[in-house]
Amino acid sequence: MSEAVTLERRYGAANYEPLPIVLVRGAGVHVWDETGRHYLDMLGAYSAQSLGHGHPRVLAALADQAARLAVPSRAFHNDRLGPFLARACQLTGMDAALPMNTGAEAVETALKAARKWAETVKRVPADRAEIIACEGNFHGRSIAVIAMSSDPQYRAGFGPFPPGFRLVPYGDAAALEAAITPATAAFLVEPIQGEGGIVVPPPGYLAACASICRRHDVLLIADEIQTGLGRTGRFLAVEHEGVKPDALTLGKALGGGLLPVSLFLARRDVTDVFRPGDHGSTFGGNALGAAIGLAALEVLVGEALIERSAVLGAHLLARLRGLNSPLIRDVRGRGLFAGVELAPMVEAHAVAEALAANGVLTKDTRRNTVRFAPPFVVTAAEIDDAVERFAATLALFDAPARAIA
Ligand SMILES: *Cc1c(COP(=O)(O)O)cnc(C)c1O
Repeated sequence: MSEAVTLERRYGAANYEPLPIVLVRGAGVHVWDETGRHYLDMLGAYSAQSLGHGHPRVLAALADQAARLAVPSRAFHNDRLGPFLARACQLTGMDAALPMNTGAEAVETALKAARKWAETVKRVPADRAEIIACEGNFHGRSIAVIAMSSDPQYRAGFGPFPPGFRLVPYGDAAALEAAITPATAAFLVEPIQGEGGIVVPPPGYLAACASICRRHDVLLIADEIQTGLGRTGRFLAVEHEGVKPDALTLGKALGGGLLPVSLFLARRDVTDVFRPGDHGSTFGGNALGAAIGLAALEVLVGEALIERSAVLGAHLLARLRGLNSPLIRDVRGRGLFAGVELAPMVEAHAVAEALAANGVLTKDTRRNTVRFAPPFVVTAAEIDDAVERFAATLALFDAPARAIA
């Protein structure tokens, strides 16, 4: 076994179960392991790698900014934060933004903002505000965030949890309306559930939720950490239904594949609940992260990568839907964000492992689904190559599955 793996197993906590591949280099959609083997990266670091490994313009921004000023703290202004926030607000149509690092922190910020907004603007009695989330959600791994999870493994052993959360079935706008009370502060929703298995809600769902929220003075908060920044073929996934949320979270690809950079963005009356000292992070809004976030946004827009995601995503979905395998239950997705649900007798994890041995990196997610979320710089020929290798890999599982059935 590789020395790197031995050391990681000996000294690391086993909170992940990585495929047995040790990556040492990446460029665009290509990665290489320590033995020199080449792979097509069809996972794209769970959508953090949308621009492709080592995008030259983001790397240049990193080198330039790192040499000038990196982490001055928010005790002072820095010359990169304002331009970054301005561009992010302009592109999302939000009034103001609060910078953090990881996605979970941006979601925590959203929960705090919604609670304080409910208390100070909506006048919900103190400590009574409720937030509604969806079954099957994924919003990160902090204690408050897993308090909203419906996945028993995410919660088991980690209680007690903070109260004030309610779950409704995903894709059911009537259930949302029925769950709203005078104490409801916000409805937090992923436009497409990513970790939940690339679950696309029924058409009209988000628009219906938006009008229900407006009617009841409840904030609609879109968690676009995975679906935003072009992943579904539009800048934000909510744009597919013409929905403008009251607040949203961005992360993952916002760091240009180099650093953790996240944002909570909202209407001014929502961000206005924060007073100096209410909330913060030592690294949130640092000059290096802001410079990289700004560069990532400029690359996305300036290099027409969102249009690429739309066009190549349609190609990817068509190719996956065209596969004629008895093991495929369903193909879901939008843009370069696709999930292939497999029949229950095959393990998506085993398929991902065999596919990696075949030169294509993907990852299983819940509901026995294999996920494809490649960098937007992927070409149609590379998609064809990956899909053909996926088909060949599935065929390896097909014969034994037939024998059992
Ligand atoms: C990944 C993800 C998060 C959490 O982001 P981290 O950077 O891993 O903390 C939150 N929400 C959604 C929808 C995600 O996909």
